[in-house]
Amino acid sequence: MAAAASIPIMPEARFALNQRRQNSQFAELFDLLDAVKDPEIPVLSIWDLGILQDVACDAGRVEVTITPTYSGCPAMAQIAEDIVACLADAGYDNVDVTQRLTPAWTTDWIDASTRKRLREYGIAGPDSAVCPQCGSSDTSVISEFGSTSCKALLRCNSCLEPFDQFKRL
Ligand SMILES: [Zn+2]
Repeated sequence: MAAAASIPIMPEARFALNQRRQNSQFAELFDLLDAVKDPEIPVLSIWDLGILQDVACDAGRVEVTITPTYSGCPAMAQIAEDIVACLADAGYDNVDVTQRLTPAWTTDWIDASTRKRLREYGIAGPDSAVCPQCGSSDTSVISEFGSTSCKALLRCNSCLEPFDQFKRL
């Protein structure tokens, strides 16, 4: 029982993503890209959020594959620029950023530790509408669109604070 409890529950999609990075021959490029944060949630990297999908390098040309959290996400242009700048700092100046739309991004790519950091940042995770300020589960949806289209705006009925929730996708 104790052994089973120590195994972290991880969605299969996230597990597959982690395996891809672990088995990549370009692990150092993945490591460099940990410095690229989500422009809207600066405490989380594009890797944490499952936006960074793959990295490859051939004859000095780096190809980075990203999947937007939803089609047309305005943050993607900023993220692509940040990826190019990050790799340029490390001496890679031939970088292509490709958007992959299939399979579509899913909140299953966000693991438990990232969800915890989202809450600490004041954003409820996709699987709970619990107030990140006071922990109350007595909350109401104010708007399906919060500060960005991938978040809904909720309000806590206990402490009356509004907060964003990452929508389940
Ligand atoms: Zn509250």
